Amino acid sequence: MRRKFIAGNWKMNTSRAEGVALASAIAAKIGASSSVDVAVCPPSVYLEAVGQAIKNSAVGLGAQNCYHEAKGAFTGEISPQMVRDIGCAYVILGHSERRQIFKETSQEVNRKVRAALAVGLTPIMCVGETLDQRQTGKTAAVVREQMELSLAELSSEQMLKVVIAYEPVWAIGTGVVATPQQAEEVHADLRKLLETRYNSEVASAVRIQYGGSVNAENAASLLSQPNIDGALVGGASLKADGFLAIVTAAQTT
Ligand code: PEP
Repeated sequence: MRRKFIAGNWKMNTSRAEGVALASAIAAKIGASSSVDVAVCPPSVYLEAVGQAIKNSAVGLGAQNCYHEAKGAFTGEISPQMVRDIGCAYVILGHSERRQIFKETSQEVNRKVRAALAVGLTPIMCVGETLDQRQTGKTAAVVREQMELSLAELSSEQMLKVVIAYEPVWAIGTGVVATPQQAEEVHADLRKLLETRYNSEVASAVRIQYGGSVNAENAASLLSQPNIDGALVGGASLKADGFLAIVTAAQTT
């Protein structure tokens, strides 16, 4: 049985005080144990403060990105070691905003995934097609290529430590959510790819989150699909009530 996993990607939002208040409200409701995994991913400068706010709860901490090198002359970057050192268990890698705005390639995402795994972080590795790619029938080819390249050279043991997030670009921050059937179709195909590349044990154990305009209203129908193992939530993770309603949906589906 795959344990459902709800993660909030705060992106470049909140002040320090707002982030601490949001995390505190989530931690207070979740408490010390939860039947699903829950994480918040604040801006990196607030990781320590938010980490303090959730420290006695079952809420995990994640960063939104990291570089692949351990240290050195890489101005503005943070290393996987630093992300681990500040208390993170997770790091989002290859988010479509990183791929599109900052021109990150799947090869670079792969270097980051391997560097993150090497220090014991769980990468949440994102893939997803654009609207044009979907409309021209390229969805499966695009997400399969992103998977193949971004997760290249991973052993079965490493693959088991990765979380995949399927995030159609056209659904991110748009309010246009994929239908449960559209999402399930891609999730099932990604799981098939894992079975081909690894084996059925790996394919049935790896968690695949859906991301793209998930909210309190649509979460249950998405999370009840057999191959949807959780959600990576952007906008709706910035309000405690909305985020907690998604967690409740995961606990009850
Ligand atoms: C995201 O950026 O990972 C995301 C899913 O955003 P939203 O929920 O706002 O579409």
